[in-house]
Amino acid sequence: MDFRLTEEQEFIKQAARDFAQKEIKPGAGERDEKAEFPADIVKSMGELGFMGIAIPEEYGGAGTSNLSYVLALEEISKADAGVGVIMSVNNSLCCDPIYHFGNDDLKKRYLTRLASGEQLGAYALTEPGAGSDAGSLTTTAVKDGDEYVLNGTKAFITNGDSCDLLVTYAKTDPDAPSGKGITSFVIEKGTPGFIVGKHEDKLGIRCSDCVSIIFEDCRVPAANIIGEEGKGFKVALATLDVGRIGIGAQALGIAQASLEESLSYSSERVQFGKPIAAFQAIQWKIADMAMEIAGSRLLLQHAAWMRDEGMRHTLESSMGKLFASETAMRAALQAVQIHGGYGYIREYPVERHMRDAKITEIYEGTSEIQRLVIARNLMAE
Ligand SMILES: Cc1cc2nc3c(=O)[nH]c(=O)nc-3n(C[C@H](O)[C@H](O)[C@H](O)COP(=O)(O)OP(=O)(O)OC[C@H]3O[C@@H](n4cnc5c(N)ncnc54)[C@H](O)[C@@H]3O)c2cc1C
Repeated sequence: MDFRLTEEQEFIKQAARDFAQKEIKPGAGERDEKAEFPADIVKSMGELGFMGIAIPEEYGGAGTSNLSYVLALEEISKADAGVGVIMSVNNSLCCDPIYHFGNDDLKKRYLTRLASGEQLGAYALTEPGAGSDAGSLTTTAVKDGDEYVLNGTKAFITNGDSCDLLVTYAKTDPDAPSGKGITSFVIEKGTPGFIVGKHEDKLGIRCSDCVSIIFEDCRVPAANIIGEEGKGFKVALATLDVGRIGIGAQALGIAQASLEESLSYSSERVQFGKPIAAFQAIQWKIADMAMEIAGSRLLLQHAAWMRDEGMRHTLESSMGKLFASETAMRAALQAVQIHGGYGYIREYPVERHMRDAKITEIYEGTSEIQRLVIARNLMAE
């Protein structure tokens, strides 16, 4: 077993760190306050190869690995977790299903533009009545000649307003039970009947947009089906295997940022005649944060490595996402505590990290759902 990164992995990590610290971190607070989408940053990330990291070069990607994806996404999210989720959705939830399940025509028409960063993707699975129980979705797609007509509403869609296209899921067999008779489609924004609805005013990751999407007699060519008709839920679940690695890496970035801010603040803040870092109560918090972060990183990098090796990794993705997201929440809370009253003030980034951390315990499967996935996988063995 060799834990050292390869030269290429070190290069990607450093390139992401340099870009994130120079171009992303300085404006993070202002973007958070104004809920401002970072269009220029997303464009530059495309040029740097960060929008399709593990997609082969022939389809516009950087042609590296899922392990490199984790390394880069941690660095980007450390600077601004809102930018991290924009990158994660494009890589994991949009490029990945088209690459793994789409035919060559779909890859040429859509994947090349998404993975190169020329266009941005979104992923619309959740509905107002179907969140954790995504298989119970009710959006319908009815065949009409060589098109399908979609009707229904999707909720909480990240990149939904800023995207050029999205991957969505609709019931093509209305009589099929939950999780069956679902088909996955690529739909271009601007298609008549593709309506961008309400913008959500969020607690955290505020620079990313999150909207509802309404399909009203929205006609999609049959050629835009990803995989086979009726097998879409399999695509959705397989996509979440890599999506959860991405959200875990986003959480890891938030946790690492919380640790670094805590180390620096506690060495400067003087109370009772000493830097607060000299107090054991502060040292223990920092030690726990560092230990949990190291554990999260190992779990996530292991899951990514398994994916790169072509091994099944549903269990490892869920464990990595669950541990990293709960680590991020604990680390951000402790970072605020270490900053005392200043941690509660917008001027200090730990307040934003605390708000950003919470979503990692909710989307792409809540912590309760991750525990279900982990237990089911263990019991099926
Ligand atoms: C900011 C944001 C961005 C998002 N981005 C996207 C996106 O881009 N695309 C997309 O498709 N979706 C997206 N989502 C949706 C997200 O994935 C869902 O919110 C999430 O899966 C939970 O669904 P729900 O909100 O309906 O909660 P519910 O499913 O109603 O859950 C409510 C509570 O019940 C618990 N619960 C539910 N079922 C069980 C069970 N069987 N056992 C134990 N506990 C259970 C949950 O864990 C939770 O605590 C986003 C959400 C947010 C807030």
